[in-house]
Amino acid sequence: MDFNDTSKEADFRAKVRKFLDDNCEKRSNNSDTVQGGSAGAPESVKGGESAAKESLKKAKEFQIKKSEAGFAAILWPKEFGGYEGSPIEQVIYQQEEINYFVHSGYFEIGIGMLGPTMMVWGNDEHKKRYLPKMITGEEIWCQLFSEPSAGSDLGGIKMKAEKDGDEWVLNGQKVWTSGAHFSDYGMIITRSDPTALKHKGLTYFFIDMKSPGIEVRPIKQISGTSNFNEVFFNDVRVPDSHRLGGEGEGWKVALTTLMNERLAVGDPPGLDFDQIFEATKQFEVEDGLAIKNSAVRQKMADWYVQSRGLQYTKYRSMTALSKGQTPGPELAISKLVTASKMQEVSSYALDLLEMSGAIHNDKNPILKNLFQGGYFFAPALRIAGGTDEVMRNIIAERVLGLPQDERADKKVPFNEIPSKKN
Ligand SMILES: Cc1cc2nc3c(=O)[nH]c(=O)nc-3n(C[C@H](O)[C@H](O)[C@H](O)COP(=O)(O)OP(=O)(O)OC[C@H]3O[C@@H](n4cnc5c(N)ncnc54)[C@H](O)[C@@H]3O)c2cc1C
Repeated sequence: MDFNDTSKEADFRAKVRKFLDDNCEKRSNNSDTVQGGSAGAPESVKGGESAAKESLKKAKEFQIKKSEAGFAAILWPKEFGGYEGSPIEQVIYQQEEINYFVHSGYFEIGIGMLGPTMMVWGNDEHKKRYLPKMITGEEIWCQLFSEPSAGSDLGGIKMKAEKDGDEWVLNGQKVWTSGAHFSDYGMIITRSDPTALKHKGLTYFFIDMKSPGIEVRPIKQISGTSNFNEVFFNDVRVPDSHRLGGEGEGWKVALTTLMNERLAVGDPPGLDFDQIFEATKQFEVEDGLAIKNSAVRQKMADWYVQSRGLQYTKYRSMTALSKGQTPGPELAISKLVTASKMQEVSSYALDLLEMSGAIHNDKNPILKNLFQGGYFFAPALRIAGGTDEVMRNIIAERVLGLPQDERADKKVPFNEIPSKKN
């Protein structure tokens, strides 16, 4: 394990810093951190629809600059507008960008997951037409996978796709679709043959989100914002030329998307030890400054150990990436620990603030406003991109070598699996 940048990596880091210094405002200190931005959720945008539009406009403006500098899609081949860099350069860029105010969360699903899917499964025409605009942010993409009865067990989706000449007709519902309300295109997994086995009768398409018959209904979240949606499909027509992979091969295509999703959400940004430690040096408890209190110090020690453990686990992944290897199930460990730590840290900070913890006021010092957002965002982080339990299953099966979950419906045709309606 080597914790230091190589000279090539240090040069790249300097180049990234220069670009960010020239184009964005730097966050001032530890207490000035991000709470969202990953998992396809734009950072919380306060101020209703007009503020959301303004945020999207600024994000698009920055995305153009980022793509011109080559940093928008570091891993993508140059022919589609990428940088053709290494995974470690991608990590370095993310490590640096987090220190600046950047309107993020709009393009990551397309560039991180859907573009790479099109690269593997699309034809030359698809790649030439759609990938460059994905990078520049001129066209935004969303991922239409989850349904009301299919999330962790994605093979259970019911969205019906029936062939009609050169087109397919889609009927059904998707849910939790991040960014569907501002997306131009989406990638969707459908059930084209209900008589086939659960994972066999699926077909994958990309779809114009302005197609007649698509209705997007934003879901109001506990944080007051609406980052994701219900999406209803009523006789929506998709040309067969928008199919990725063969008929009934949708599961294989979806796996390409999901593998890229795991890489993208393995290391979510957010509140951490540094912010809560800073808070304990400023917040008072009944016997004085929180940091002087032995119970508080005990908590700090626990989170310090967790944070350092995560940091070194991350170094292990970075070293693997640096050597051209693919990080293993440690990504699941990072996601599991980071998301629940964010929830615990935020909750504890709000307790320290007592009644004023419930008040988010723009006139508050930054540190007093920091933890409410993390408190509301952390539960989403514990679900998106694989729930805590699913992460634990991955660790159990792939790290500890324990036997796999029983999958009783694996060898049964989908329409014979007992269910309310298939
Ligand atoms: C912020 C956010 C953004 C999202 N964005 C998108 C998006 O853009 N596109 C999209 O398609 N989806 C999106 N999702 C949906 C997300 O993929 C699903 O919520 C997730 O996969 C869990 O599925 P579910 O909600 O159906 O819960 P379920 O799968 O029904 O799980 C319910 C509970 O059962 C547990 N459970 C399930 N299976 C097992 C098992 N085998 N062993 C043990 N416990 C189990 C789960 O851990 C959970 O506690 C998003 C979700 C969030 C929170």
